[in-house]
Amino acid sequence: MKTPEFETIVGLEVHVQLSTRTKLFCGCATSFGAEPNTQVCPVCLGLPGALPVVNREAIRLAIVTGLALDGSIPEVTRWDRKNYFYPDLPKGYQISQLDHPIVDGGSLELPGDESPPRRIGFIRAHLEEDAGKSLHDEREGKADTRIDLNRAGTPLLEIVSRPEIRSAQEAKRFLTELKLLLEHLGVSDCNMEEGSLRVDANVNLRVSTPEGPVPTPIVEVKNLNSFRAVERAIEFEQQRQLGEFLATGRRQGEAPKQTRGWDDASQTTRLQREKEESADYRYFPDPDLVPIVVSRDLIESLRGELNRRPSAIRHRLIATCGLSDYDAEVLLQMGPAAIAYFDQVAETSSDPKRAANWLQQDVARALKERGESIDRFPLKPERLGELLRRVAAGELTTAQAKDVFRRLTEADVEVEGAMRDLGIASVDPSAIDRLCRELLAEHPQSVADYRSGKLQALGALIGAARKRDRNADPNRVRERLLELLAETA
Ligand SMILES: [Zn+2]
Repeated sequence: MKTPEFETIVGLEVHVQLSTRTKLFCGCATSFGAEPNTQVCPVCLGLPGALPVVNREAIRLAIVTGLALDGSIPEVTRWDRKNYFYPDLPKGYQISQLDHPIVDGGSLELPGDESPPRRIGFIRAHLEEDAGKSLHDEREGKADTRIDLNRAGTPLLEIVSRPEIRSAQEAKRFLTELKLLLEHLGVSDCNMEEGSLRVDANVNLRVSTPEGPVPTPIVEVKNLNSFRAVERAIEFEQQRQLGEFLATGRRQGEAPKQTRGWDDASQTTRLQREKEESADYRYFPDPDLVPIVVSRDLIESLRGELNRRPSAIRHRLIATCGLSDYDAEVLLQMGPAAIAYFDQVAETSSDPKRAANWLQQDVARALKERGESIDRFPLKPERLGELLRRVAAGELTTAQAKDVFRRLTEADVEVEGAMRDLGIASVDPSAIDRLCRELLAEHPQSVADYRSGKLQALGALIGAARKRDRNADPNRVRERLLELLAETA
């Protein structure tokens, strides 16, 4: 039998850990890697009588994200308890948002040259607190599980896309752009290894049959801890669901919604459980927390941050700074600190293209060699800008600038000082001009020889220039001599 045609339908739920210093409802730190159970208090441990207080910064970051994703921010947002029992959930419920999330709708445009541009829509984004972590220790045949509650109560923004993604590759494109946006807005560090960005994928197929397209049951795949895993899991589910449909003929509604876990070792998904419907969580409004009224003033004051959206930065780099699409993309991928660094270098040097080239090549290479991130790079952007300004003005050759650059990454000195350390004299373009004019005046025979076609006469003039000023760059002397000879011809 011929394999039927099918369309892949994917919706993603992205759990983003917000970059707040403290948890969503208490003052405990959110930093990663502390000793287990050292960042806890009566509130996040769920002790009787403890009352939650909302973290303002988490609200602000959620609203900024919502605005950046072109979503709407309802005037009132409220909190619900999602009840379930799990060892790493100390209160026996999670504070989340059911009917009144902080962000409604929205969409994200994917970069690329499609016309019209490809956009993926969002259903909503809501705030919730994270659970703790179970550490399974299986030494000496004993199954020993310990609980670390440092993460319990950490603010998460769950961003839910519409099922509008049509392939594994498109899921990766979408996640790459979403991650870029979250990083540039300073909403999250998006560190997947530390769990700051976690993805669940809802996948099903629409299989072509003689009586029309038939949807297969939706499967939620969890435990996707890299974009690669998201891609592979979607590809795996396509084949698995198609095989199951061909074998059983079961369509959506004829089988319970499944939750499956991605297993990186075998590169397959495995059945975890048949999915609870939201009614199983017995959601109800949290009686300890009042609804939040979001003022229009707050929303307007946050709109200013939207110029840090990747789409806005791309536009600025290309339209205002004159960079190529490629250069803009490389700088964006280097992160928000690199954009801030670039802006400073471009402003000081008044030469954005040169700034972009140096950032992508020399700075990127130096960072790699040193194993540093750009916010810890010892060469201040103002100094690099000053160095590039001198190159643009013809005071330094590119080769000299590379030496000065190296010196500047090693010692805390100004450009002038680094040049002195290296014995590089700054060339004054007017000095070269003066030198060349003098030579032409003093060597009329050479000038006549050159004009009659004896091109080696130019070499003699350059030699004479070097005799007079040992630091005169022969390339620059040649260039200026030719210009002057052309002018007076
Ligand atoms: Zn706490």
